[in-house]
Amino acid sequence: MPLILDGRRVAAQLRDELHGELLELQRAHGLTPRLAVVRAGEDPASVWYARAIERACRQVGIAFELRQLAADAPQALIEQEIATLNADPATHGIMVQMPLPAGIDAQAVITALDPRKDVDGQHPLNLGRLLQGVPALLPNTPAGGLELLRRYDIPIAGRRAVVVGRSTVVGKPLALLLLQEHATVTIAHSRTPELAALTREADILAVAVGRPGLITGAMIKPGATVLDFGINETADGQVVGDVDDASAAEVAGAITPVPGGTGPVTNMLLLRNVLQAARLQLG
Ligand code: NAP
Repeated sequence: MPLILDGRRVAAQLRDELHGELLELQRAHGLTPRLAVVRAGEDPASVWYARAIERACRQVGIAFELRQLAADAPQALIEQEIATLNADPATHGIMVQMPLPAGIDAQAVITALDPRKDVDGQHPLNLGRLLQGVPALLPNTPAGGLELLRRYDIPIAGRRAVVVGRSTVVGKPLALLLLQEHATVTIAHSRTPELAALTREADILAVAVGRPGLITGAMIKPGATVLDFGINETADGQVVGDVDDASAAEVAGAITPVPGGTGPVTNMLLLRNVLQAARLQLG
């Protein structure tokens, strides 16, 4: 059986650490960081996610505020909301929930964020800083993958890493983070031929695609570490990843379960970004 990279356990450690650091910030500066979530419309997955984030904020001692806009809110109104939050010194982090309604230019909304409040790490300035390898507010999901590898002492330097998926939220920033840790990194995507031959070369195989069962045991190098970022709901309401658990378990050396792997760590790293953003704004 592979080593299970237990995201709930790592998230609990992160929660305790964050709680302590937030108490310290309160003691030293009288400051309680605040996260504002901006949502247009009521996409059910977004509603569910915001509730989970609100609960997690309360547990660690971060103030939470939801700015709910109508599903037909125009671009200018969404950007006005962002401008108001940018200018509000009591708001330290802003998360814009995706997807925004059809017709909204999501990239323009992200670019309207104050980069110091961009706790999803999606503003061009933060992504550019990640590319340069200088301190930035990092995208939470890929940063969570790295956190799992670190906390389980999985070596990265000199290893062969294959990242399947090239989104700006997960795949691309994860590849940059692994590169920064001196892995030799290949990014695969929907146009990659011979995917199995490539994934079988990976000491670290990270998958962020959104297709259940895309990666089977036959595509995994024996002993490899597998990070499964996929979140897919099956017809019978189960949540599964992109990796076929049963066949992967016979080959992998270490693997993240779904649920309970990368997801819980992502949420805690969002909160860690709120703390980091509050510190940045202290000057
Ligand atoms: P996305 O923007 O849809 O990107 C999916 C990527 O997968 C694309 O780069 C696409 O290639 C690639 N792809 C599609 N089919 C493929 C195939 N057959 N073989 C190889 N690559 C293929 O998705 P995302 O936002 O990155 O999310 C990916 C998954 O992670 C989803 O299940 C999402 O729910 C989950 N997720 C999890 C967390 C977490 O906290 N664990 C956070 C965010 C997202 P092209 O670029 O060529 O189209």
